[in-house]
Amino acid sequence: MLIAGNWKMFKGPAETAEFCLGLRDEDLEGVDVVVCPPFVSLAVAVQLLAGTEIAVAAQSVHWEDEGAYTGEISARMLRELGVYGTIVGHSERRQYFGETDETVGKRVHAALEAGLFVIACVGETEHEREDNRTEDVLRRQLSVLEPDDNLVLAYEPVWAIGTGKTATPEIAQEAHAFVKSQVEVPVLYGGSVKPDNAAELLAQADVDGALVGGASLELDSFTAICRAAIRS
Ligand code: PEP
Repeated sequence: MLIAGNWKMFKGPAETAEFCLGLRDEDLEGVDVVVCPPFVSLAVAVQLLAGTEIAVAAQSVHWEDEGAYTGEISARMLRELGVYGTIVGHSERRQYFGETDETVGKRVHAALEAGLFVIACVGETEHEREDNRTEDVLRRQLSVLEPDDNLVLAYEPVWAIGTGKTATPEIAQEAHAFVKSQVEVPVLYGGSVKPDNAAELLAQADVDGALVGGASLELDSFTAICRAAIRS
């Protein structure tokens, strides 16, 4: 089981330090834990979590090593910092920053080539689900990805992210089974995972962990979800 916390645009270096100091005192044996702070907070997280089993990942990565790409960060730079992996293709990047299936594919490929662990996100919007297009959308998003030992997917229905609406365990299981039929790698569930719904989601056969947004920002709720994963 893998539990990853996506901090989005929350926690600068000072708040990151406070969180990591608390996290490293927790006993989380039995679950793989990853935190994904904003770029400016990666260095302090790497330093403070060094020597623990907790990994640090970025929230995106560019596909070139270097160049005229204002605002972007390369896999090589992340590796230099001691970062373990990265999220790619989060729906907020697709929705607000013009991320496409093609750029997701390029980012994932470059990150894996550089030796980073990758959490690649897929998921349908509410409208696409209502139109019965969930499988078509997932198939299209997954068409740019190939299995790799360092790749996991996150199934994140867009209608469940930050909305408090969680997929039922049955909906999650059905989507995860479909995702795995396309690209055979572990699949995390993401979308309003909280301490009180984590256990039933994580109990599904094809749910291999969770990508947690809002509930990863507080140490108590994040570690409660990690503990649910240990028990499942
Ligand atoms: C996410 O950001 O990946 C996410 C799933 O957010 P939340 O848990 O807040 O819905």
